[in-house]
Amino acid sequence: MDWTSPLVSPWNPVLAQDLVLDKLGWCGVSWGLDWEEWTATAILAGHKTAGYFALRPRSRMHAWVTHARRAGLAVDFYLDGCWAFAAQPGTLGAAFDLSALATEYARVLPPPLGRKVAGELLEHADVPLLTTAVHHEAYPATVCALALGYPPEVTAGLLTPRRHRFPHLPDGAEFGAYCPECD
Ligand SMILES: [Zn+2]
Repeated sequence: MDWTSPLVSPWNPVLAQDLVLDKLGWCGVSWGLDWEEWTATAILAGHKTAGYFALRPRSRMHAWVTHARRAGLAVDFYLDGCWAFAAQPGTLGAAFDLSALATEYARVLPPPLGRKVAGELLEHADVPLLTTAVHHEAYPATVCALALGYPPEVTAGLLTPRRHRFPHLPDGAEFGAYCPECD
């Protein structure tokens, strides 16, 4: 797909989610990184749209939240449990060229699906990035993926095998066309 953003990277679904390796039976690579540390760093550096994590000790988590808010990031900090959702500031439409991305989805997906997906994406232009992150599981896959900084190619892979996925409802946005439920 001919679309890029500094907030979107193939590394985001790989490094921010150890659960992928878990579901693959740990036959994957161990990256030697703490996913919570990595997520916090990637968001602050502008390499990832948003995410959730807890840093320890708790004093470090508090310090991160203070620093991130001063740097302009949007943070929902949950004192109970001492963890946070953090996101780049602003809305989906301000952070991403949604019209170009909608055109790309419409180009690579089968026509009825492509048009539907492109329309859904454009309808969410005014939603703040932090909201898309906190409620990422409630949004269409295209919005969920952007909220987490996942590449649209992975999302298109998730959306394409709909007939197969009818009995196996889509798993995490990280999986793309891969189905962890069957061989
Ligand atoms: Zn399956």
